[in-house]
Amino acid sequence: MADVTLRGVYKDFGSTRVIHGVDLDIKKGEFIVFVGPSGCGKSTLLRLIAGLEDITDGELYIDEALVNQRSPKERKIAMVFQSYALYPHMSVFENMAFGLELSKVSKEEIFKKVAETAEILELTPLLNRKPKQLSGGQRQRVAIGRAIVRNPKVFLFDEPLSNLDAALRVQMRIEIAKLHREMNATMVYVTHDQTEAMTLADRIVVLNAGRVEQVGSPLELYHRPQNAFVAGFIGSPK
Ligand code: ADP
Ligand code: MG
Repeated sequence: MADVTLRGVYKDFGSTRVIHGVDLDIKKGEFIVFVGPSGCGKSTLLRLIAGLEDITDGELYIDEALVNQRSPKERKIAMVFQSYALYPHMSVFENMAFGLELSKVSKEEIFKKVAETAEILELTPLLNRKPKQLSGGQRQRVAIGRAIVRNPKVFLFDEPLSNLDAALRVQMRIEIAKLHREMNATMVYVTHDQTEAMTLADRIVVLNAGRVEQVGSPLELYHRPQNAFVAGFIGSPK
């Protein structure tokens, strides 16, 4: 049973077509990574799944339900961006609780959920700090925590680690892999970092100019790229 299904999905911005008939089945609990050159449509595909952009043509199913007409909130999806987008005047606790407060969850429930999530992400000692008192890695953990507390069915990550230095990226990559194991959530992850793609993905989707070139496990793509384009992206490290 697929958790997220795209059927013949097209996206036009004005008269420019940027997504050209994408078909994709993402399984429950799967870690899917989108790779491809800048401008190939990775972020647009995530935004279509999230409902931040309308699909021009085609069908999008989440958990078996057609969601073309559903608002982002109704889709039970959480998106983590490259820029952390934390509220600077709010504490870590308030940043994480904010989405829950909007959806009218009780105070006790909010406190419990934020406390649990802070434990998972090792943020408990930092709950009273403001974002500017945190390191880059800590901020990104808060952004991920804010997504987790909302209990999404699907996590979408758009190059979440690209603002971090190399050492932190490695550490965060390990944490995201651990999070995926522990939560057993469906994750769709955009990166231009080949190591991230190879180590995190159950399957990699290689995109080129709004089309899917190949979908497969890291090993399949590495050993049996269908064409030179895929080989160039995934093939032997130079
Ligand atoms: P990627 O994330 O792979 O770098 P994007 O999905 O951001 O690529 O962009 C895909 C294409 O769609 C690009 O040509 C980009 O300029 C265009 N595009 C993205 N968003 C918009 C928008 N809101 N309006 C017009 N064109 C857009
Ligand atoms: Mg992008």
